Amino acid sequence: MTALPEYEVYAIRYATRAARRADNFIGGDPHDGPMPLAYYVWVAIGPDRNFVIDAGFTAEVAARRKRDFIRCPIEALSLLGLDGEKIADVILTHLHYDHVGNFDRLPNATFHLQEPELHYAVGHYMKYKQLRHSYEVDDVVGIVRANYAGRVNFYDGPAELAPGVTLHPAPGHSAGLQFVRVHTRRGWLVLASDVSHFYENMESYRPFVTAFHIGGMLEGFDKLRAAAPSPDHIIPGHDPLVMERYRAPRPELEGIIVRLDEAPRFSGGES
Ligand SMILES: [Zn+2]
Repeated sequence: MTALPEYEVYAIRYATRAARRADNFIGGDPHDGPMPLAYYVWVAIGPDRNFVIDAGFTAEVAARRKRDFIRCPIEALSLLGLDGEKIADVILTHLHYDHVGNFDRLPNATFHLQEPELHYAVGHYMKYKQLRHSYEVDDVVGIVRANYAGRVNFYDGPAELAPGVTLHPAPGHSAGLQFVRVHTRRGWLVLASDVSHFYENMESYRPFVTAFHIGGMLEGFDKLRAAAPSPDHIIPGHDPLVMERYRAPRPELEGIIVRLDEAPRFSGGES
């Protein structure tokens, strides 16, 4: 048996949004207080292949949706020595606006997506504002066009993209959401994306407010735990705490990029 490759894994923070605790849990929260969201893209750098996980949103969409845009996540790839024009593989955890918006800045990429997500994003549920609000129709059409150009690889279930990089569907927040597991020097790291927005969603089994299927969201927390060697190996999709728990790869990247394949500075409340 050959050893699995060890990837370096990074989170790039590209935007933020102010929110209150009650905004982030179905059913609200008895303790009021600020609980802002961070927006990330993730990068896995391996010995032979690199994977970009999600594509973030654009400055224009940030302005329209009143998000605090910090930097273009695709331009920020250069801080890790990568060039968006040359990226060959982009995993899309789902097609919500904050995960796919810069698809056209990745002109040579193949997109890896769970097929139910595209069906959902073009299907009958989008007649409901509550559900379509999380999508930008231009992004969805862009992915349809990418498919017509032969640039989308569809999955309908778990998949291995490369040794050490696997995809895991966990529908709930959206109908075709998936999370990503990457093999690193500290073992399997689980990039949860929106299977858990915050550490606290999965720790307390209280899902985030944007929901397609609440039962699926609860099962998603179980799937994350089953896929990770410890809770410290799970990286939530929108938690600002990720920037505190992990270190910048270089001092000048403080507050911009953290390295996830090294042990966290401190761990969560869970044992
Ligand atoms: Zn999201």
